[in-house]
Amino acid sequence: MSEKPLLLDSDRRFRNIVIESVGKEVFNCYQCSKCSAGCPVAFAMDLLPHQVIRSVLFGKKEKVLSSSTIWICASCETCTTRCPNEIDIAQVMDVLRQLQYESGCLTPQPKIPILHSTFLNSIKKTGRVHELSMIRNFSIKSGDLKEKLKKGTWKNDMKLAVKMFLRGKLKLFPHVSKGVKDVRTLFNQAQEHKKT
Ligand code: SF4
Ligand code: SF4
Repeated sequence: MSEKPLLLDSDRRFRNIVIESVGKEVFNCYQCSKCSAGCPVAFAMDLLPHQVIRSVLFGKKEKVLSSSTIWICASCETCTTRCPNEIDIAQVMDVLRQLQYESGCLTPQPKIPILHSTFLNSIKKTGRVHELSMIRNFSIKSGDLKEKLKKGTWKNDMKLAVKMFLRGKLKLFPHVSKGVKDVRTLFNQAQEHKKT
């Protein structure tokens, strides 16, 4: 009788993508939980950082990519600093966010990936963040604008925007950074790297 494989092909592929991106150190995880104990936002996560690493090693793609944890992670790198095995858990979270974004899996935090992409698009366009257009695009794509128009709460946002504008904290038009070409090259290189 043939033995059931430990990991299905798709699970193995998922695990390998993560390991190739962050390094083989991930295999050294012995589940000491030091990463989770130091994480400042662990209280809000549905999977703790050490559980994410364990799930990655077991190729649990759906479980990991549909968890709120990867979008709640604030990339503070406390976990990475605390890990006795030099596993870059913060980078694992980063790779998982990208995989989740590309796979289109459902997430309990659907607005965070939208914020993530509007932020990156803003940087790609001008080389720096233009808050006003970023918030406008986010509000439209996430459905926030529709909701606020319905409830009438958009007026509060307008009042705040005017205050910020008067204090010089909000620019009407984007300022294009001198290094915008270099920034775009970085984006293109990252895109090319993903294809290889
Ligand atoms: S601190 Fe490192 S070794 Fe310990 S559970 Fe987290 S990832 Fe694994
Ligand atoms: S990088 Fe993310 S997972 Fe790691 S400690 Fe910070 S918030 Fe927690």
